[in-house]
Amino acid sequence: MKLLTLAIFAVSFLLVSGEKARFDDHRVYSLKIQNEKQLEALQDLENSQSGMFYLEAPISIHKLAEIIVPPHKFADMTELFDKLEIENRITVNNLQKLIDEEQPKLSSRTTFGWDKYYDLPAIYNWLDEILQEYPDILTNYDVGTSYENRTIRAVKLSKKKNNATIFIESTIHAREWITVATTTYILNEFLTSNDPEVQALAENYDWIIVPVLNVDGYSFTHSNNRMWRKTRQPYGSGCVGADPNRNWDFHHNDVGSSSNPCSEIYAGPKPFSEPEALALSKFVESIGKVNLYISFHSYSQLLMFPYGHTTDPAPNHDDMLQIGEQTVDAISERYGTDYETGDIASTIYLASGSSIDWAYGVAKVPITYTFEFRDKGKNGFILPADQIIPNSEEVLDGLIAMAKEAKELNYL
Ligand SMILES: [Zn+2]
Repeated sequence: MKLLTLAIFAVSFLLVSGEKARFDDHRVYSLKIQNEKQLEALQDLENSQSGMFYLEAPISIHKLAEIIVPPHKFADMTELFDKLEIENRITVNNLQKLIDEEQPKLSSRTTFGWDKYYDLPAIYNWLDEILQEYPDILTNYDVGTSYENRTIRAVKLSKKKNNATIFIESTIHAREWITVATTTYILNEFLTSNDPEVQALAENYDWIIVPVLNVDGYSFTHSNNRMWRKTRQPYGSGCVGADPNRNWDFHHNDVGSSSNPCSEIYAGPKPFSEPEALALSKFVESIGKVNLYISFHSYSQLLMFPYGHTTDPAPNHDDMLQIGEQTVDAISERYGTDYETGDIASTIYLASGSSIDWAYGVAKVPITYTFEFRDKGKNGFILPADQIIPNSEEVLDGLIAMAKEAKELNYL
């Protein structure tokens, strides 16, 4: 009990002081889970307040987990790995070094661009600028308010009447900075590109874009902890936040999510306990027919579609696979970036309560996808800023192919 109180005190102190977490000499371990005993021991670590936390939470046997370990825990962890014979590999030796190298050393840029990452106020400033510059094409929406009272915004781009609607949800996970950078890049291309294929895409569809859904978490990654994933609503045991992509009201907390508030994949106490997920669901239901719903994540280079809660194929599984295959082919053309496609449950793991499963299962959007952007783990969530443009270019190539194939199959 004493320890717990101390831990709560330590966490609250960090919050109150607003000190920025550092990860000097912190390692990232990739762990292969091979039996129930290992799984339980690794899940127990989710309650640890010793500076360790998961990048990939331990979900099930035969899957990988990834954990950040501070230097003072190296010996304990080595002992645990030896004792339980957990296969492990160090993937990052000094996490702080990656974070320090994420942004360019010198940037003379004074206007918004895509050679570095921006915080929420800068992104919203840029939205205001383009809204002012393109009033006939763009419409602003306030989707709702976050737990900490920030506005979640959306922009609709529409160049003509009676277009089919494509929805992009971005940055539901706070630390996935590449998602909002890519989203704003694509929106900017829709407005300014001379490429006829890009212009056709902007012309022939209405695009509703939420650049940052998890506004509190994203702000926290800039102010306090670069590695934050969840929302910022406090829960028990001194732990904060639920996983907003396990919080949707479709097979909520069935599988591949956690009831432990300290877990990185905590589903929340009930469906839509997180105001951000609730607000977005209401917004999606209010805008009329959505033909294609897309959620942007990083990392792993995957393109996934429903379902996450079961390996049973969705009714139009084959169509979604066919569209997925065309999309990943197009993504690989420019830089050879290699994506895999398939349904969530068989491509990564069973995971229920995600936004795309809800959009598909409840809001009845006929095709829905989750992108997991670059890379495959070398930098992970800390993708260097000089990859923003190449990542965005290949994703845009993918969207062109996706729309083409979806139209071919009469979804758009
Ligand atoms: Zn994510």
